[in-house]
Formats: sequence, structure tokens, C-alpha cells
Amino acid sequence: MVPIKVFDLAKELKLTNAEMVAKLDQLGLGKLGPSADLDEATADKVRAAVASSTAAAAKSDAPITIPGSVTVRELGERLGVGPAEVQKVLSGFGVLASLNQRLTGEVVTKIAKKLGKNVILEEVAPAAPAPATPAPAAAPVAKPAAAPASGAPVAKPAAAPRTARTAIATGSQSSDSVARPPVVTIMGHVDHGKTTLLDTIRKANVTAGEAGGITQHIGAYQVERDGKRIMFLDTPGHAAFSSMRKRGASITDIVVLVVAADDSVMPQTAEAIQITKDAGVPMVVAVNKIDVDGADPTQVLTDLASHHDVIPEAFGGAVQTVEISAKKNMGIDALLDAILLVSEIEVDPKADPNAKPQGTIVEAKLDKGRGVVATVLVQQGTLRKGDVIVAGSVYGKVRVMTDDKGTPVLKAGPSSPVEIIGLNGCPEAGDRLVVVKDEKEARQTANLWEIDKRENRLNIRGTSTLEQLYKQLISGPVKELNLVIKADVQGSVQAIRDNVEPLGNDEVRVRVLRAEVGPISESDVLLVSSDREQTEKNSLIIGFNVGTAGNVEKKAEKEHVQIMNFSIIYQLIDAVKDAMLALLPPIYEEHVIGQATVRQKFKLPGGRAIAGCYVDDGVVRRNARVRVKRNGVQIHEGAIEALKRFKDDATSVAAGFECGILISNFNDIQEVDGNIEPNLTLEIYELREVKREL
Ligand code: GDP
Repeated sequence: MVPIKVFDLAKELKLTNAEMVAKLDQLGLGKLGPSADLDEATADKVRAAVASSTAAAAKSDAPITIPGSVTVRELGERLGVGPAEVQKVLSGFGVLASLNQRLTGEVVTKIAKKLGKNVILEEVAPAAPAPATPAPAAAPVAKPAAAPASGAPVAKPAAAPRTARTAIATGSQSSDSVARPPVVTIMGHVDHGKTTLLDTIRKANVTAGEAGGITQHIGAYQVERDGKRIMFLDTPGHAAFSSMRKRGASITDIVVLVVAADDSVMPQTAEAIQITKDAGVPMVVAVNKIDVDGADPTQVLTDLASHHDVIPEAFGGAVQTVEISAKKNMGIDALLDAILLVSEIEVDPKADPNAKPQGTIVEAKLDKGRGVVATVLVQQGTLRKGDVIVAGSVYGKVRVMTDDKGTPVLKAGPSSPVEIIGLNGCPEAGDRLVVVKDEKEARQTANLWEIDKRENRLNIRGTSTLEQLYKQLISGPVKELNLVIKADVQGSVQAIRDNVEPLGNDEVRVRVLRAEVGPISESDVLLVSSDREQTEKNSLIIGFNVGTAGNVEKKAEKEHVQIMNFSIIYQLIDAVKDAMLALLPPIYEEHVIGQATVRQKFKLPGGRAIAGCYVDDGVVRRNARVRVKRNGVQIHEGAIEALKRFKDDATSVAAGFECGILISNFNDIQEVDGNIEPNLTLEIYELREVKREL
């Protein structure tokens, strides 16, 4: 009997590979890759199952409305499959979820898709201006998934209250949707070859110019393989990826996890796996540096499978792995093929080029000559030159638009990365970009976003628990490190902010006075010094890939304001941690290091007495402290003022030797019949500073 490949069966049954893989899993055949073989009997079973579920689907294809925030349990009930089924799908994504775990819209979409359900996701949209008085929430304006997006009802900003819910179609796409290139982010441990891989893929060398070899900036570019395009995002690292996600921006369809075959899974590899799983994004593993002596690709796969629950296809799992050498340009085509395969199977990215244009800010910077330059990933619709746009709390008109190769373009469709000029301020990485009717609407929408952002920040700040307050009352106020953050691009500003703000504990925390793009200026120094005068706080200005303008350094010196510059983000974070720790009072721990017996008394001029001792145990050190005991009872405690070996000063004297010890404020060595009193002993101890941690 001839076996049939999974993808051939998918073709025969007019399913995508993704649907077929999900179907096989549903039928209890496990997670089979598209190139797996099925025997004839199994194939027949699948054919029958597909036929019956198609019939069932034909009967009930009405979209199911899912509220903006649901738990696993609620989703299972709403989808009519039960919570266990939802948990099963989640575990397929590598997420073990409890029944009460809340799911983001993004994840709900993926689950629905996996289960072949047609859903409408309601989402709170901040895009409409606030009314003067709170209006009752409008009825949800749901956009059925099957309706063409261009004709779909959209909440009208001018009339709708801020709490209006706008539905976002998910699951099956609108009939106008067309395939778009998948958006890929590369992640992995430092030095495992992320930059080299990106370089090799785009064939331009940027590694040499980068500080510490760490990719600092977000760029974006498209490559083509066999007529199919892939969009690569050049991210500033895991922190930025997470912080963008935290702010609701999901722009990555697939993560490529780079693992060096000579180093295997390292801490940031594990971190990347966690971030990817949390995001519910599929992963392709690129086992890099296979050209290096001692490379052990199998070890990488074993480590991934045994410790991180990432099961490679070669081990019977669903994760594609490709062996490459980014440096020697080996296996790159196979990697691109794997990305395209996963894209087709698990993502099936689609967008409607005729829908209302929407995108996400990937990066923004202030360019001296050109003004605000923002990199935008268009996600829906087509962005055109001249469009009036809002990005977070800034707005403007697309005056100039260039593609990833620097060529001016008049329009940009879904999954196109473009650089735009024309915004009136720097948006933040992860800000949603939308097109509005005119400048008036742009201003209103931008204001609203600003209010929203401020409220969100206040909420975060306001979460001081009673317990924390109580601790403050008994241990004094929490110490604060005031920070001014200046960086070269908005993506870095945000990433730094997101990394340093959560630092701290009950005793110390960070307060960001200012965080913005641009060089360190005199006004930054003034801000810090005036704030310090008022509140007696400790402050620091940190620059990331920026210089200092004019006479700033002199001014800072005069005002005793500390400026630190960095080009590597984790060094910056470490420096902030150190500065915070420096604010905390030291804690000491006692260590007994030796025992000695007093055997003689030497008188010094002025009545002081040196104890002539025999070291019984351990060591006596010059800087140690002493507990003096008479018959085992402590009679004095003090520092060692002088330690002598014969006539000379000594830094330490070990067990079995004699020494002279001058103990601060202690002269009470008694003599009985010309002999030193018996049982006068010294316990030598040191106070060691305990390393404090955040
Ligand atoms: P990143 O920190 O993950 O971006 O790593 P880089 O791309 O900067 O690479 C770190 C180092 O590994 C550089 O010296 C690269 O030349 C080297 N490297 C990257 N890929 C390969 C590879 O496939 N083979 C070898 N031999 N070296 C590589």
C-alpha cells in the first residue's frame, strides 16, 4: 500500500496544511508535520471525518461573538467545545493555562482558528473622542467576519463614546482578504548569530557598526523566496518585543529562534522561548554555527525537547528545525522554506488591502534634517502618501513615504515596512497607526490616546498595597532613584523604560522624570538638579546611543548631576540597579573567624594594655572585631585597634601563633599573683556586608 503525504491529502480535501494538521490532531493522530506519511486506512478515516465536519459546518457557520476579555472556561463554553478543548489547543502552543486564565484577543483568535471556529472579537477601542459627560456604552458594533471589511460598520469617532466597542473580525477572513507576507522576528541568546543571520539574509553588513554586536535598532525589510515574500523585523531584543506586546501590539507572525550549535540552549534562549509561547506565536528553530568545530546540533534539539518542551519535528513534534551557518551562508534557503511552510500551515497570514489602513509603529526617531521619521508596518489596508494619520498621541500627514530599500513610494499595502515623514512628534514603538478623515479628527483622536496613556500610567503607579504602605510607615519612606532617559530612537526609550520602571522593592524604586528621544540637554540637567533640591533625592541621567549637547557636561559637573552613557541595554539596566542599590543602607552579617586566649599583658604609656594572646583557632585579622569573655561571659565588645606580631604590625595572625591585640576601649586585663587571670578569651569576628539585591 502506498502511503500518502499529509500535504497531498490536504490538497485532495481542499484544506490548507494548517487545517489538515489541526484535523489530524483533533482525530487523535498527534501533531504530524505536513511531510509525514499516512497509510491508506488512516487517510480514509481522515477523508470521512472531513466530509462529516464540512457537512456540519455548512449547517452552523454563524460567527460567534466573543467579548474582549474571556477566560479559558468562558471561551470553551462560547465556542461549544468545552474548556478542556481550549486548554488542549493552548498546550499545543506550549501554554499550560488554568480554567480561569484570561486570554488576550490575539490568543482567542488563534484558538478559534485552530478549532475551525468563526468568531467575532469585541475589543475596547480607544479611538473615539470622549464625550463631555459619560454616555452609556453603545451596543457593540459587531463586524461579521464574513463581511467585506471595506463595507463594514465602524464606530464613528465623532459620535461614539470612548467606551464604544469596535468589533475586529477574526477567524475566517473577509472575502476581500488576500495573502500577505508573514512578519518574522529573530530571537535568541546573545552571540548566537541573530545579527549575522539577518545580515546574510539581507546581504548587507551591519554587524561591524554595532556596539557589542547587539542589534539596537528596529529596521524592517522584505525578502523574496520563490516568488513568496517574507518580512523580517530587526528588533532591539527581547525586552522591546515584550514591551511592545505588553502594550497590545502584536506584529510578529513567526519567531525564528537562533540557537548556536556549539553553545546550545542558554538563558536568553529560554527567555525567547517563554516570550514566544506567551505570545502564542509559532516558532522555527535555526540551529546556527554548524560549521564550527564541536558543533552539536542534536544536543540543541535534545535540550529544546527535554527541558523546554519545544519538540522538533525530527523527534515527532511539530516544531520545524533547520541547521544553518549564518556566517558561511549554509541552509539559509531551507530556513526561508521552513518559515514559509509554517506561515502557510500555522499562520496563513491574510489582510485586506482595501480595508481602512492600519499599522504599527516599529521605530521612530527625530532626525535633525528630516524631522520625525517613523518606521511603520502596514497591517491592514493601503497607506497612501497624503493620508492624514494618527499614531498614538501624535498625528500628521504622510508627506514622504519610502520602502525598505529607501525608494520613495506612493502607497504601501499589508506587511509592507515603510518609513514615513510628517508626524508632529515621536510616537512610541508599538503605537497603533490609523488613517483618519482630516486634521480635526486626527487631533481629537490623538488627544484621546494621550489621556488613555496617562490614565494607564497612573493606574500602574497607584497600585500601592496596604502592606506596602505599612512597611513604609515602619521603615521610613521608600527611596527613589530619579531618572532621565534619553535615547536615539523611541523603541529604545520604551524598552529602557519598561525595563527599569519595574525594578525595585519595598525600599527603593525608580521614578522616571523624563524619557524621550534626543541628546542629553541642559534642560535635562536642570530638571534633575531642581527636582533633587526640592526632594533630596538621588538622580541620574542615562543616555543610550546619544551624545550630550553643547556645554551640558560642564553644567552637569557644576550641578553635581551624574550622566552615564550606554550603548548596550543590559549594561544600562545593571547600572541603574547599582545606582538603586547604592541608595540602600548596607546590611552586615557577622562571621566568627577565630578564637584566642589572653596569656600576657603589655602596658603601653598612658595606661593602655595590649593583650598578649595565643590564637587557638582560626585567624585574627587587623580589621576584625572582638568579644572579650571572662569565664565564658562576655564583658566587652570592640574593634581591634592594633595587631602586633612581636614588635611589628601584622594584618593577620593564624592559629598556633602568638600576637598582641589592642582592643578599643578595653584595658581590663587582670593579674592574679603575677599571672594573667585564667579564662580570659577573645572571640574574633568580622562584619561582612551582605550583597543587596533588587
Ligand atoms: P547576535 O548577538 O546573536 O546578533 O550574534 P552575532 O550575529 O553578532 O554573532 C556573534 C558571533 O558569532 C560573530 O562573531 C559572528 O561572526 C559569529 N557567527 C554568527 N554566525 C556564525 C556561524 O554560522 N558560524 C560561525 N563560525 N560563526 C558565526
